[in-house]
Amino acid sequence: MAIRNIRKDDDDILRKKSKKVETIDDRIITLLDDMADTMYDADGVGLAAVQIGVLRRVVVVDDGEGLIELINPVIVYESGEQLEEEGCLSLPGKGGMVKRPSKVIVRAMDRYGNTFEVEGTDLLARAFCHEVDHLNGILFTDKVISEESASIIESN
Ligand code: ZN
Repeated sequence: MAIRNIRKDDDDILRKKSKKVETIDDRIITLLDDMADTMYDADGVGLAAVQIGVLRRVVVVDDGEGLIELINPVIVYESGEQLEEEGCLSLPGKGGMVKRPSKVIVRAMDRYGNTFEVEGTDLLARAFCHEVDHLNGILFTDKVISEESASIIESN
């Protein structure tokens, strides 16, 4: 277990598309463990592998209700709308209002290779959307409706 360096600001890797995980091997397990350590150390709500420089479709999220590990996550359902302030561990000091669905269902694999679905509302729905965007090279600043720099409530 280790805390890894979070890629920030205009680091090119944040704009790259992450590749699907084909085999869950020891490297992926270590990656999941390190991502959780890194997220908790940085006080984040979520972290995508690309944020520590690994272009794989792996995400960790914890909205305060426990750790959720997602391998190859896909949003299979979304409904409603919420407009809240968002931030990102890769964009320190930046914040802004972003529109997201108020409820989503994500399908993913766990570390044992089992496919599962998890529902998220409010902050958890926002975190799922934000992290899946990271896997496609999309940052929240691409979707900001109004900017409020340096007044971040939460970092995803
Ligand atoms: Zn982020």
